[in-house]
Amino acid sequence: MVLRLSSLFLRTLRQDPHAAEVASHKLLVRAGYIRRAAPGIYSWLPLGLRVLAKVEAVIREEMAAIGSQEVHFPALLPREPYETTNRWTEYGDNIFTLQDRRGSDYLLAPTHEEMFTLLVKDLYNSYKDLPLSLFQIQTKYRDEARPRAGLIRGREFIMKDSYSFDIDDDGLDVSYEAHRRAYVRIFERLGLEVVAVSATSGAMGGSRSEEFLHPTPIGEDTYVRSPGGYAANVEAVTTIIPDEIDFSNATEARVEHTPDTPTIDTLVATANTKFPREDEDWTAADTLKNVVLAAVLPSGERQIVVVGLPGDRDVDLKRIEANIGPHLQTGGEVIMETANDADIARNPQLVKGYVGPGLSTGSPVLGTEGSTGLLYLVDPRVVSGTTWITGANTSGMHVFGLVAGRDFSWDGTIEAAEVCAGDEAPDGSGKLESARGIELGHIFQLGRKFSDALDLKVLDKNGKLVVVTMGSYGVGVTRAVAALAEANHDEKGLTWPRQVAPADVHIVAAGKDAEVFETAGRISEELDAAGIEVMYDDRQKVSPGVKFGDAELIGIPTLVVVGRGLADGVVEVKDRVTGEANKVPVGEAVAHLTELVRG
Ligand code: ATP
Ligand code: MG
Repeated sequence: MVLRLSSLFLRTLRQDPHAAEVASHKLLVRAGYIRRAAPGIYSWLPLGLRVLAKVEAVIREEMAAIGSQEVHFPALLPREPYETTNRWTEYGDNIFTLQDRRGSDYLLAPTHEEMFTLLVKDLYNSYKDLPLSLFQIQTKYRDEARPRAGLIRGREFIMKDSYSFDIDDDGLDVSYEAHRRAYVRIFERLGLEVVAVSATSGAMGGSRSEEFLHPTPIGEDTYVRSPGGYAANVEAVTTIIPDEIDFSNATEARVEHTPDTPTIDTLVATANTKFPREDEDWTAADTLKNVVLAAVLPSGERQIVVVGLPGDRDVDLKRIEANIGPHLQTGGEVIMETANDADIARNPQLVKGYVGPGLSTGSPVLGTEGSTGLLYLVDPRVVSGTTWITGANTSGMHVFGLVAGRDFSWDGTIEAAEVCAGDEAPDGSGKLESARGIELGHIFQLGRKFSDALDLKVLDKNGKLVVVTMGSYGVGVTRAVAALAEANHDEKGLTWPRQVAPADVHIVAAGKDAEVFETAGRISEELDAAGIEVMYDDRQKVSPGVKFGDAELIGIPTLVVVGRGLADGVVEVKDRVTGEANKVPVGEAVAHLTELVRG
């Protein structure tokens, strides 16, 4: 069916929509692909639906190619399963909840792990049924705190979510790798550049998880990358651990009076004036800063954690949160905060501005030796034999020449420091720089989290019940449409790549003569018969200028102008991206365009 602009349900707009910040949002609305229904909630018009369908088709094919089977769950879900996994509460204000006429609680699905787990539990019970991979392309609802950028962060959006079910971790690894490959192919076929960023370091035994970020300055996610191809979430970056230093000849540590030096800057200044070093000035990197934090445990209890790191570095609470799990007695999500006055007051051994590690020569305060029970963790740069200026746990006093591993110990090492541009990538692939991206996909080894909670077990080879091992994998489908628009536009409008464009060619009847419309109409029909998707601007009372403007805004890859050239027996074929135009004899137009599109 030729899409005739005289009847297509479409109005292009000259004005950007109110409060639109990013190009994809502005252009998708102006070019008539989507309309806003409420904050973060959009209606899809014919052109938008065509693009969406093409994106979905690529995803469906690649999911099928890894043996995943399509299902479709409701979006309206009962409370109980989400209660069982605790997500009814965990999601907090981020879920939309409602009640039916009997007063039973429901939610609009933010994601579907629970339902998939229960469906498999319902129907399967043997290792022979596994591995299994299921997917759906479905609407999700999240009451995002800040819906923004049109489709990029919506409150209603479409996600492809899939789930893998395996008998053990090895099986999960295979399923995960298959998904990873499928994702690489999906984004390749869509023509969307992505970097797969590790979301967890794995160093602490966490399950694998990677995010597929599309690099763009308008992205909300920050990550770091190196020229050699390393890419990771800041949380997942690991520090290159320096070699230990032989301290057998190191001089003894000494405590010095350093009044009014509660900060690193004041300490360095005092050290340089009162206790100068012969060869070079002291710098912040020579000091060991001990930051007092509180880990807010799931129970609400606040556990003090003191973190020691080089004084030229700041703590990154997110990095600590991501890595502190194994150092605490309790499981579950922990929130790290700077210790408040009450926390400090409860631990009088912490002298604000002068906190130091345990001193084997002085009063031991922190750490394993002579510990008073506070957890003391250090940055990986604090290795045995490194020498520091640090707090002496007495107001106005610091220790100089305190040697790690000789004069103090610690309970563990943690990635605590902010990652800075210029830091070395952990794999030696060069210096890190920070970049921004849009998260288009996320693959995640769930392990047994949901199957444990919802009791999904199957009989193994020996007739023993084992908990199923799961993975979950998401692609933001509507977000991918936005990312495509973001990556493919110019000042005049959208510039879709062929594989997702709403049509292959856009034919403009530019003129008033019957011959113009006749020829343009005939070419349209013949192309359509040849299986080429045609949009035909057959509007009678619209000027060629307006038609060209609309064509550029709508962004179909090939524009065909049927007009003045007819006098010379030609039509003009123009590339939307390069602007390159060719005159093609009318009689050859259909063959030429078919060839071009199939190319
Ligand atoms: P984000 O950090 O962007 O909020 P998320 O970590 O919550 O994403 P997942 O729960 O892993 O995302 O969802 C899978 C995919 O769904 C994401 O990779 C993203 O592409 C898409 N997605 C998530 N939230 C939204 C949203 N509010 N609007 C559009 N797409 C979304
Ligand atoms: Mg989110």
